Amino acid sequence: MSEAPFPPQPSRRSLLQAGTLVLLLGTQQIARGASILAVRVWPAQDYSRVTIESDRQLVAKQFFVTTPPRLAVDIEGIDLNPELRELVAKVKADDPNIAGIRVGQNAPNVVRLVVDLKRAALPQVFTLPPIAAYQHRLVFDLYPAEPEDPLEALIAERLREAPPSAPLPNIAAAKPGTPGDPLGELIAQQSQRPGAPPPPVGLPAPAAPATPPPVVAAAPTPPHAPPPTPAAPAIAKATDRLIIVALDPGHGGEDPGATGPGGTREKDIVLKVAYLLRDRINATTVGGNPMRAFLTRDADYFVPLGVRVDKARRVQADLFVSIHADAFTTPAARGASVFALSQGGASSSAARWLANKENQSDLIGGLNVRVQDRHVQSALLDMSTTAQINDSLKLGSVLLGEIGSMAKLHKPRVEQAGFAVLKAPDIPSVLVETAFISNPEEEAKLRTAAYQQQLADALMRGITRYFAKNPPLARSRSV
Ligand SMILES: [Zn+2]
Repeated sequence: MSEAPFPPQPSRRSLLQAGTLVLLLGTQQIARGASILAVRVWPAQDYSRVTIESDRQLVAKQFFVTTPPRLAVDIEGIDLNPELRELVAKVKADDPNIAGIRVGQNAPNVVRLVVDLKRAALPQVFTLPPIAAYQHRLVFDLYPAEPEDPLEALIAERLREAPPSAPLPNIAAAKPGTPGDPLGELIAQQSQRPGAPPPPVGLPAPAAPATPPPVVAAAPTPPHAPPPTPAAPAIAKATDRLIIVALDPGHGGEDPGATGPGGTREKDIVLKVAYLLRDRINATTVGGNPMRAFLTRDADYFVPLGVRVDKARRVQADLFVSIHADAFTTPAARGASVFALSQGGASSSAARWLANKENQSDLIGGLNVRVQDRHVQSALLDMSTTAQINDSLKLGSVLLGEIGSMAKLHKPRVEQAGFAVLKAPDIPSVLVETAFISNPEEEAKLRTAAYQQQLADALMRGITRYFAKNPPLARSRSV
């Protein structure tokens, strides 16, 4: 079961204060006197989040100032208290978005929070109703106004890591798409691969057209561009076709996932396994083409399920592997499982139960409902194809075989259910439950570096075996 890291405990004193206010002010003022239960800050490149948890819904007014960029939020019905003052110290120096937070009593019963930002931002301020172990949450999500393009970042990173024997042009100085620029050529080549480009990541998506949009026009090589020189290693790199494996560490941020009897959190373990698998993928080639891992989250923050799918589609991933270590209803349940999407019903009641639980992530992690509505309209959720599921079952089967060589399996075959995160219609997608964190023995194993490495090795062998039988280029041509 999912558990909040900070079980809310309203103090007796704050409850008494609230009661006094209700008596003095009458029932129409009942929202006044809310108690702050916890404050949290989740920094990440994608966006930084500030959460204020309270025993009643807070009423807030926001103002955004662009120069210098800062968000001011007036919270009504509360007085400045030590919990809110804690926010100031919770901002980390390396937060990519937040420079600092100031709090002050702006008027009687009105606290003003000012979030000073490091770069131009698109803030979202919204409230979340109580769920799981959380009470009411007031959330500020601070998205950068100019989000990083994940595909561009991936390719730039790949070029930076090219071996020293292959001298590379100065990538920072070259603009994508300019003649002779390997980054631009790689992006162009990657963009020409089949499949409709998904909407931008992490921001309100525009409404989807009824038919898939046309493939993004790739920057053409101008006619006056110098002819390719096959002997030059740098040019050879530029013509590589990156094989991209999207790794999706489950949960994160406000959504801890499952918690083991010893307190181990699923979100922490799966991120570690994803890092280890990323290292292995990045050191591997497929048919002479370099392989690259793309993490849908690379830190401890919440990524909505639909955004995970969008991100994988944005980088045109060849595979999508979601990594979990969930709890089950009894501590005796044990063993690894692999899941694919099902178009109809789930393959077992346990699979259906697990899919329902995973699909709750957005509620616990905390999604801005207004953004979610647009996502639902645009996310092509019902376009998953039989072909995708067939490929996912093949992928799942080899992964299960490899995991079975180093760990117990919960079921000897790939199971199917309606996991929201597996719904990219054009990417073979599986969800791996590496073990049950609710089982004390499995929790103990999951905590060890040796077991995490064995898991990453097994998943790597499975991915390699899948590509050996299903070459990614052949798959692309057949679309
Ligand atoms: Zn999970």
